[in-house]
Amino acid sequence: MKFWFITGSQMMYGEDTLRQVEADSREIAAGLQLPFPVIYQCTVKSNEEIVNVIRQANYDPECAGVITFCHTFSPSKMWINGLNLLQKPWLHFHTQYHASIPDDAIDMDYMNLHQSAHGDREHGYIGARMRIPRAVAAGHWQDPAVQQKIADWQRAAIGVQFSRDLKIVRFGDNMRQVAVTEGDKVGVQMSLGWQVNTWAVGDLVKEMDAVTDSEINVLTDEYASLYTMSGADQEAVRYQARIEIGIERMLKRTGAKAFTNTFEDLHGMRQLPGLAVQHLMQKGYGFGAEGDWKTAGLGAVIKAMYPDGQAAFMEDYTYDYSHELILGAHMLEVDPSIAANRPRIAVHPLGIGGKEPPARLIFEGRAGDAKAVSLIDAGGRLRLIAQDVECVKPFQPMPNLPVARTMWRPQPDFLRGMECWIIAGGAHHTVLSFDISDTALADFARIMHLELVRITASTTPKSLERDLLLGDVIYRSVY
Ligand code: MN
Repeated sequence: MKFWFITGSQMMYGEDTLRQVEADSREIAAGLQLPFPVIYQCTVKSNEEIVNVIRQANYDPECAGVITFCHTFSPSKMWINGLNLLQKPWLHFHTQYHASIPDDAIDMDYMNLHQSAHGDREHGYIGARMRIPRAVAAGHWQDPAVQQKIADWQRAAIGVQFSRDLKIVRFGDNMRQVAVTEGDKVGVQMSLGWQVNTWAVGDLVKEMDAVTDSEINVLTDEYASLYTMSGADQEAVRYQARIEIGIERMLKRTGAKAFTNTFEDLHGMRQLPGLAVQHLMQKGYGFGAEGDWKTAGLGAVIKAMYPDGQAAFMEDYTYDYSHELILGAHMLEVDPSIAANRPRIAVHPLGIGGKEPPARLIFEGRAGDAKAVSLIDAGGRLRLIAQDVECVKPFQPMPNLPVARTMWRPQPDFLRGMECWIIAGGAHHTVLSFDISDTALADFARIMHLELVRITASTTPKSLERDLLLGDVIYRSVY
């Protein structure tokens, strides 16, 4: 994926100045240290040139977003027709070629060339006037702080591009009677692009039956290279490998990057998928248990934004009031990408579901600052809730708990953090991400028109209630 750098100007300055504008713009674009490449495209000087380059950006599948900068003054009525067509994420980079004012060298030629201080204000006006969602990053282009801001926006734009193509396979429906895992799949496809469709569990079983012993050998060798396997029932592990190969074949055939299942619909399967799902998540697939397709999609998007990052399907399980910690885990399916130690494979019976004891990975989650992120259907709109949390090393070995586990303390503090989460309607399923930044979250939500609810160190239940009331007014009237 690439990002297009487009410089705004006009014909008035003459060829020499425009040549310098182009040379400086090339240097700025090439000098940005970012996770994804920025390619200088052109310096636009007319309505026709702007319409033309925006059309090209829209239809280039490798263009993930557009960065604009007005080195000189670029009258904004020239931009209206082009910006009306823009379908890619937009960042207005308010920078300047030189970092300081040269005392001797500054003259009127210099002033005519280096005037983004007012050229970009004209550009900012039209963005505001047209109410186009855009990120604004101000700072000298060599400043790491402004580059970080652009990097965050790039992550969001990559998430947008991925989201607009995302397919989610559901094996079975969601768990009966559960509300938060429901939602408007048509509405979500309209806003996020997600194609959420169901496949029969019987088709998966047929796929699993076709897996050969030698294919299973290859995958169990991979398990052995990643995880400690000693003592685990080999037949149970091999059955998980069969499940994984079957699921991944169906995902690949469909072009899906996320999936769900439910323990209430495992017809023809001998085990609930555990290790199989955990390894698929480690490979980058999004997953939601109990049919939770919104968390599956959210997990896949965050993994696409941070391909080498750490993001896990998670469930708030139980509390320790004396240590002020939440224990997060799941029946089986915790993503080993957040593991602090080498996961080990174990086979234990499950209390529910009525199937054979499944193989699963057991490990402790890593410590560090993270965000618990939840996407809910708020009725007529989606609400993205993100709470800052501090993950800590579990303080007890919990030898009889046969699942992966992690512990965290929510912001602003343990009890207020819980109150805020409940007030906002956050789900019991989340994506726990150690990577996603405030800026990337805000950029993603802005581009996608999502209501973003942040719970941070400065949030109080009272301030949150007010935010939610305002959100109701805003999202009912604007979108
Ligand atoms: Mn669950």
